Amino acid sequence: MASSPEVVINEIPTTSNLPIPVTSKIKLQKGSKTPPNSPWIPTSPWGLKDNKEFSYKNTSFEDVMSEQLANQLQLAEDRKQSADDFSNPVEPDLDIDGGEAHENEDTSNDLLIAQLLQAKMDKEYNQYLTRQENTVNQNSKVRLSYTNYRMDEIFSSDDDDSDTEVEYDADTDAQDPSSNMLQVKSDKGYVMFGKEVVTKHDLEISGRKNTARLEDSFPVEFKTGDARGMDIQLSNKIYNSLKKHAYAEQRRGQRLHEEKEHYTAEHAVDEKTRLILHRLVDRGVIASVNGVVSIGKEAVVIHVDGGDVIGSDSSKNNDEMQNLLIPAECVVKIYKTTLNEFKARDKYIKDDYRFKDRFKKLNPRKIIHMWAEKEMHNLNRMNEAGIACPQVVLLRKHILVMSFIGHDQQPAPKLKSAILSTTQKKSAYEQVLSMMKTLYHECKLIHADLSEFNLLWHDGKVWMIDVSQSVEPSHPHGLEFLLRDCYNISKFFTNLGVKDVPGSYQLFNEVSGLDIPLSDDASFRSAIEVLQNSAEEHAHQGRRKASEILTQSATEKK
Ligand code: ADP
Ligand code: MG
Repeated sequence: MASSPEVVINEIPTTSNLPIPVTSKIKLQKGSKTPPNSPWIPTSPWGLKDNKEFSYKNTSFEDVMSEQLANQLQLAEDRKQSADDFSNPVEPDLDIDGGEAHENEDTSNDLLIAQLLQAKMDKEYNQYLTRQENTVNQNSKVRLSYTNYRMDEIFSSDDDDSDTEVEYDADTDAQDPSSNMLQVKSDKGYVMFGKEVVTKHDLEISGRKNTARLEDSFPVEFKTGDARGMDIQLSNKIYNSLKKHAYAEQRRGQRLHEEKEHYTAEHAVDEKTRLILHRLVDRGVIASVNGVVSIGKEAVVIHVDGGDVIGSDSSKNNDEMQNLLIPAECVVKIYKTTLNEFKARDKYIKDDYRFKDRFKKLNPRKIIHMWAEKEMHNLNRMNEAGIACPQVVLLRKHILVMSFIGHDQQPAPKLKSAILSTTQKKSAYEQVLSMMKTLYHECKLIHADLSEFNLLWHDGKVWMIDVSQSVEPSHPHGLEFLLRDCYNISKFFTNLGVKDVPGSYQLFNEVSGLDIPLSDDASFRSAIEVLQNSAEEHAHQGRRKASEILTQSATEKK
């Protein structure tokens, strides 16, 4: 006590006249002269000496150090404080940015300061845990959680330490399967969950949400298992790549399915075709479907056993079928319904006046039916004219049933691959020439795809097949097609070693009966064109006249 500084004050300070809080540290100078009327103006050799505004009154050291005095001062202070609190209650400022208290915070509330400090420490500790979690988990698909060790944070910033957020469709979110979970939809971006502040980026929440979404927003065929039941938390990154994979798989599946459909369509035996075949079996037209004879670009040919229609119950009401004489062995020619082939063929049909009007109105599928119908009509004409060719049994949409050229399910070989003697070769040529003439003059047809591939060798004679594209001579390109047929036949039999086979122009003249001068290629073709144009003009006036003009001009030339 002896060393305590001697402070001279002139009166006991009261709370009302205290210019500054008593708790403030003021250095009082030992032995200084007390300024009048103010205990707080320190006496100093450099201070004010004779300031009249101050009145000094001597107070003993004992007074100053008295406990009683100290208590009085403290009491006065407390009273003032509580009066202030009541009239202006302190609102703790919760607007904390990143855990940092604002500078203008009321620091007089020790409890609040302590809480703020604690919150900051908790936050730092939790951040440390998060870092530890991340280090432990790294790329692992199953996350270890330190949640139980986390401190309860009173305040939390909306720190984004999660993965990039998944973008969800609005409607997906509307029916969010995880809606039974904690929803973080407040404007602040966080909600209080008990004492815990949970943001929408909370790894656990978004992890569980993602798991729940697995079952509901992924394609149904994607097997997710009961991920929700096992409380697996999927990070957004994993969820996103799973979703991507699921939809890629779905698209791949669809593509495979389409390919499969396309494949059956390629082979013409699609669902509709199968149904027609089943009906034909039901009605007794077909006894059994055996095997594929040929898969061509435009059609599939299948060997079938002819049925006994008369004995079939289901056909009793069908006169057409009751009168059918069905050969023991037949083929069904199924026209492909794929459009790429149709495109290649339409030139044969769209300019054929027989089908012209209908062609304009029909959809592609109906046009394919017309191909089958065309083949049927042409075969019938050929049969009437006595040309060796399949006999038509029945037509159903794009399916044509006809007699089989061959024996015991063995189709007759094509001329291309038939093994023939020299005499047979010569005979084959003569037969083909005769067929072509009959076809032109009697059937009023040009094959338009005649070659060693569409001529079969069966029972010592040539059979003509595949006449769906055959056209009348009045067709705008009919004579060109005939010239091409002649070229193929001439070339084939010449190569086969048949003697005296004429060249294509000569053969053309011989088949058509026209006598176009054989001067040169260009003039021959232009003569054909002139004839075609005049034939087409006449075709507009009626079939008879059109075909007449060509046969007429042929007779005139003779
Ligand atoms: P594509 O348009 O596919 O050429 P085709 O009518 O020429 O159709 O038939 C293809 C193949 O099927 C022929 O080359 C022939 O071998 C076989 N074929 C077609 N019709 C018959 C039939 N009536 N009898 C036996 N075989 C046939
Ligand atoms: Mg063919």
